Amino acid sequence: MAYDYDDENIFAKILRGEIPNKTVHETEHTLAFHDIRPQAPLHVLLIPKGPYVNSDHFGLEASDAEILDFYRTLAKLSHDLGVAPGADGPGYRLIGNSGDHAHQEVPHFHMHLMAGRSLGAMLVNPA
Ligand code: AMP
Repeated sequence: MAYDYDDENIFAKILRGEIPNKTVHETEHTLAFHDIRPQAPLHVLLIPKGPYVNSDHFGLEASDAEILDFYRTLAKLSHDLGVAPGADGPGYRLIGNSGDHAHQEVPHFHMHLMAGRSLGAMLVNPA
């Protein structure tokens, strides 16, 4: 299946500098910024700068350099923010919504990094 990327999505506008954001960290291929409606004391979004609709699209079509940069940036970010379990931090949750059943709102691949308190069960209404 070919993905059709919508250039007018809100994260595309953030990447073009048309909408402000609270940047936490930026690399050649990746941007991390605070979620505008935080659902945890720490709620950061990590996005690739390339035009990928969701994690499926990113995993299938992003370059090795983009994928490497994304996950290295995620690790660095968690260390810088003091939540990485590998540095005796309290841990964090990653959420990556892809597609309708996950209620993905913004059609640009993003990972939510959430931390700052115990986050409870993974899903409110388990199957
Ligand atoms: P999702 O449901 O996984 O697509 O999540 C989209 C996320 O983007 C939500 O948590 C929103 O609060 C967040 N969001 C939407 N617009 C902005 C914005 N302009 N700046 C930062 N976060 C945003």
